[in-house]
Amino acid sequence: MSFGNPIKRLVYNYLPSEIHPYLKNLFERKRYIKHKIANLLLNRMEMLTARARLLSYPYYLVIDPSNICNLKCPLCPTWHDVKRRPKGKMTMKMFKEIIDEVGPFLFMLNLCNWGEPLLNPDFIEMIRYAKSYNIVVGFSTNLNYLPDAMAEKLVDSGVDLIVLSVDGVTQETYSAYRTGGNLETVMANIKKIQHLKAMKKETSGTETFSKETLGRDKLSKGTPDVAWQYIVNRHNENEVEIAKKLASQLGLILWLMPIRTAMDKELTMPLYERVNETKDWLPHNPAYNRYAYEILPETKTKQSFCKWLWNASVVNWDGSISPCCAVYDKKWDFGSYIYTGRFSFHRTWNSSSYILARRLIASFLKGSVKSQSHSHKCLYGNLYGKEAEDKSLICKHCTKYGFLES
Ligand code: SF4
Ligand code: SF4
Repeated sequence: MSFGNPIKRLVYNYLPSEIHPYLKNLFERKRYIKHKIANLLLNRMEMLTARARLLSYPYYLVIDPSNICNLKCPLCPTWHDVKRRPKGKMTMKMFKEIIDEVGPFLFMLNLCNWGEPLLNPDFIEMIRYAKSYNIVVGFSTNLNYLPDAMAEKLVDSGVDLIVLSVDGVTQETYSAYRTGGNLETVMANIKKIQHLKAMKKETSGTETFSKETLGRDKLSKGTPDVAWQYIVNRHNENEVEIAKKLASQLGLILWLMPIRTAMDKELTMPLYERVNETKDWLPHNPAYNRYAYEILPETKTKQSFCKWLWNASVVNWDGSISPCCAVYDKKWDFGSYIYTGRFSFHRTWNSSSYILARRLIASFLKGSVKSQSHSHKCLYGNLYGKEAEDKSLICKHCTKYGFLES
């Protein structure tokens, strides 16, 4: 995609690559685009100057419509751990209030975090409401539940990207990880969506997205984009080639993703322990394994910086706000969304936890740079480390184990 306009070019460069295929549409629709660009530039400046209290809003938001799920995936805490985060579904009222405040500044909204979003009866209305603010909207689903009437509304909702969590091409390998799921139902639901998309395209006679710059293996025609996320594990690594053929037949984009360690432990456990705990799941083929097979106890994650604290945020179904998508335990949240007028979200975005976390991470990174260039011990701990320790701030773990990997 080429943008002659230097501001558009800047926006394109600042935003993550996942959003690039959709930017052209966003600019064409124009709605709130000036708000979004001004906020993005301000946000960028505030991140580069490591401000702790922000004037800008995040440009990427995760909202979890529901943390209830119909499956029991072994490495996901959602189905067995109800104590650390109570279960429920977000109300449409709360969703509207949040989007009314943050929507004008958002480029991207992910409607999923700790559950199956299609189980929220207001889900389609949520997509439509977010789309009225000219936001790129996507979500992940295990697709075991999709009644016909809902499928039609979903394809017409304006949603940009549906990511399907389907890890295997036979019931046996699929259900090794997606426990409780039925592959036949999922395949029937995929065909339902693809058929509705084809019908829609025939009726409208237009394509509303650009194929340029996608860098993907294959892109099916029509909207929304449907990506098959195939998490490669030891049970299904031998079926990858079949999955590639099947994805092509079904008109899906195939994303092969190496399996990660337990989802609720990514921030709180050292990489070494997590990988050891998960070793029976790791593929034998190194091309499909994201971790080294031999890890030293002191090895940190590859991620050396956290953008979440400045660019993005997570609102859970009950309005509690987590600093990033890997925070499972409610006790690590940074506050709660409570409607008190125009700046309700922004108040928590600048809560004492957020401010301390930004100070901690900014000074940690400054300390890391110093320690690399002058070979002396990193001093960040003297600045905010003790306060973070006293207040049990989740981000302190990232200074020890490395940041959440993307
Ligand atoms: S990983 Fe997804 S599909 Fe599996 S139990 Fe968790 S929320 Fe449900
Ligand atoms: S520093 Fe770590 S815990 Fe804190 S927001 Fe970033 S990735 Fe999440």
